[in-house]
Amino acid sequence: MENIYKLKNIITNLTKEVKKQDFLVYFRKMSILEITSDTLVFGVESWFMKNNLEAKFIKELLIATQKEDSNILNIELEVDEKIDIPSNTQVIDCTKFYKEATKSIKASKKDSASSWPNTKRRSVNERYTLDKFIVGPDNQLAHSACEAVTKNPGKSYNPLYIYGDVGLGKTHLLQATGNKILAKFKGKKVVYTTADKFITEYVSAVKKRSVERLREKYREIDVLIIDDVQFLAKKEQTQNELYNIFNLLYECSKQIIISGDRAPKELTELEPRLRSRFEWGITVDIWRPDFETRLAIIQEKSREREFLIPQDVSEFIAANVTENVRELEWVLNQLIAEYELTGNTPTLNRVAAKLKQLSYTSDLLWAPKQTINRIQIKSYEDILDAVSNHFWIEKEGILWPNRKKEFMIPRQVSMYLLKTKMHYTYQRIGNIFDGRNHAAVLYSCNKLAGLLKKDQKLLHEVNIIKDWIWL
Ligand code: ADP
Ligand code: MG
Repeated sequence: MENIYKLKNIITNLTKEVKKQDFLVYFRKMSILEITSDTLVFGVESWFMKNNLEAKFIKELLIATQKEDSNILNIELEVDEKIDIPSNTQVIDCTKFYKEATKSIKASKKDSASSWPNTKRRSVNERYTLDKFIVGPDNQLAHSACEAVTKNPGKSYNPLYIYGDVGLGKTHLLQATGNKILAKFKGKKVVYTTADKFITEYVSAVKKRSVERLREKYREIDVLIIDDVQFLAKKEQTQNELYNIFNLLYECSKQIIISGDRAPKELTELEPRLRSRFEWGITVDIWRPDFETRLAIIQEKSREREFLIPQDVSEFIAANVTENVRELEWVLNQLIAEYELTGNTPTLNRVAAKLKQLSYTSDLLWAPKQTINRIQIKSYEDILDAVSNHFWIEKEGILWPNRKKEFMIPRQVSMYLLKTKMHYTYQRIGNIFDGRNHAAVLYSCNKLAGLLKKDQKLLHEVNIIKDWIWL
């Protein structure tokens, strides 16, 4: 009977040994199964938890236990089959218990610290930071460009234009860059707006005859961030106003950061002169993240939300939700909500059912299959192998000049992957492909990038190859 009190004390001690984030993620239901003269056996929910705790927190568990009972020299963990029975009074749900445990600690701390002056907390929007952005080969360039801009706003990359499909992190990067500049340069005026908002602002200024005031406002800005400029399409007046603001800011070396869903050249419904301004600085694109990056995003977001997600489940989601990070988050939120409502931790079958609901109707990829057979990229040869295997052709056909169409696409795909995955220079790629020059390789890569925008099937094929290789 007294084991439960022992357990409570041990877990209270544990909250001092383990960081809150980790505690809430890794410690769920626990019990004490057995105490012998020098060994204490904890009960946990699953093999997954047992393995995780053994790998990560055995030391902390021992310290916390010994503080309570100095006779104990070893601790063990076993799966407790009865842990989920509601009437079992020997179980503690650590997550729920956490508040109670830390309240008593805080109360005692507060007493000793009550003479301290109150420190005001800053209210910054912490959701979007550059640190929280998971970097992979497909968004690395955009992320580095943002970091560079925060070091020296207005000086190095101006304007910075970021483009990519929806849900790949443009808004995140833009806001994070703004936040970081604000934090580093206290006096700087940073304005984040979307093209939509800017249009509304401009139209209402025109109605109120206060366009001059709007201009003044924008003239004083140090960093102007405009999201989703594709929505300026056909709004000639607004574009004109933005063009003037752009020039003014640019001439004063004020930083401008812009995002769009496509390259400036392809914004054909925008005034050419505005479009060309967008290209003056640096233009970087974001691509759909690869498997590793998606996995890392799921794990990071779970950690942020203090949610324990089994490895096989996160791999399964990463393998199947491939197009859009927002969807990844959505699936994760569903699982968290379900856990909070029912206490059910996600299993592969439940997630599969969820994805089917979300109209992932094609065959789901089961992560283990995917992870075991993947090819690790050590040199360019491995990329060529992956491409030739995928298209069922000889590697030589890709490497040597050959105008047959069946080789042309794989060749372009190979070049494109060498560029985007391995960041080879065009020249270096040219050397591999029969000494082609820089311009020829650039042309091929651009050609393929253009094709991928139009040809869903090809995009899918390239995505499959991308997911099979890892660096
Ligand atoms: P976009 O503006 O390109 O449509 P968002 O910036 O709104 O995309 O991203 C959608 C969601 O996905 C956001 O919640 C964002 O935080 C998240 N996200 C996208 N890419 C990443 C990444 N690489 N790391 C972490 N979170 C990401
Ligand atoms: Mg956005």
